[in-house]
Amino acid sequence: MRWDHLRLSEDDGGGDGTGGAAVPLIERGVARTFDTPEFRGMTFYEVRARSVVNAVPKASRMPFRWTINPYRGCTHACVYCFARKTHEYLEMDAGADFDSRIVVKVNAAERVRAELAAPRWRGEHIAMGTNVDCYQRAEGRYRLMPGILAALRDAANPFSILTKGSLILRDLPLLQEAAERTRVSAAVSVGSVDAGLWRLVEPGTPSPRKRLEVCARLNEAGIGCSVLMGPVIPYLSDSPAQLEAAVRQAAEAGATSVSAITLHLRPGAREWFMAWLREHHPRLVVPYARLYGSGAYAPQEYQRRISARVRDLADRYGVGAGRRGPSAHRRLPAPPAAPAAEQLSLL
Ligand code: SF4
Repeated sequence: MRWDHLRLSEDDGGGDGTGGAAVPLIERGVARTFDTPEFRGMTFYEVRARSVVNAVPKASRMPFRWTINPYRGCTHACVYCFARKTHEYLEMDAGADFDSRIVVKVNAAERVRAELAAPRWRGEHIAMGTNVDCYQRAEGRYRLMPGILAALRDAANPFSILTKGSLILRDLPLLQEAAERTRVSAAVSVGSVDAGLWRLVEPGTPSPRKRLEVCARLNEAGIGCSVLMGPVIPYLSDSPAQLEAAVRQAAEAGATSVSAITLHLRPGAREWFMAWLREHHPRLVVPYARLYGSGAYAPQEYQRRISARVRDLADRYGVGAGRRGPSAHRRLPAPPAAPAAEQLSLL
């Protein structure tokens, strides 16, 4: 049962530590809808997770071993989202369900505090935003992140956050408090600064301009923030002019670094993205078939070219030259590098 790790806690009647039933949480949790425009058509499944600090599988090439994901599914609804497939594990679909049926781990903060206090915990770096966005719209209502950040702060546990959400600024004081005690870093995901493309491919997100303002605000406040250009979408956001505009604006936002990741189309994301492409850019269907074939990745040569061009542009615009960041911990080892593209959904 794919809901195993989300089963009810022992306190909630599981008794045997497994939740005590074969009934998935989607049926045992509380389903809520809200009659406000921003949440219309959405259902939130409030569950009590048994554990929230989750280990990354050993075979993974992630540069960190631990993650916290207080939500499953994402109201940001990016058509290319690499996490779509994971919704199928919850017996929901990778398309509209992923955008509108959101699992909320309402006890996330208390679990994080308990798990960080456990004797076996070694204080390793924890990455957030690596599966779905922890600052998606639902966070405005559920406010899970302040409790999580407070727990990380109190444990002086290093962490990083990757997001497309501007809501992270709500928690800036907490981030600053944590940065006084440990290594804290952030990254915003901005694949392109083309407003027309944004409205079509990332309909639930703050605009790219807004995200870059978030980057600037975080850097000004001493929280080192980089820009992950993810994804660069072939034929739609990969022209030299588009790449240059994105890197230039990232540089203006004081990004500590900029890196690019080319769109990849694994099952789940692939079907949803290709349906979108057929509707909005039918003339690109054949070029995409040529570029991706039946696989998930654009050719290595294409990916290398995009990455190299973005690196060159970042050098030209002096990205990272006047690097600002957490002052209290400059002498500590650098935090892990940005996660490998193929293991991120938030791109
Ligand atoms: S790419 Fe990120 S922000 Fe967009 S839907 Fe997926 S998890 Fe949410």
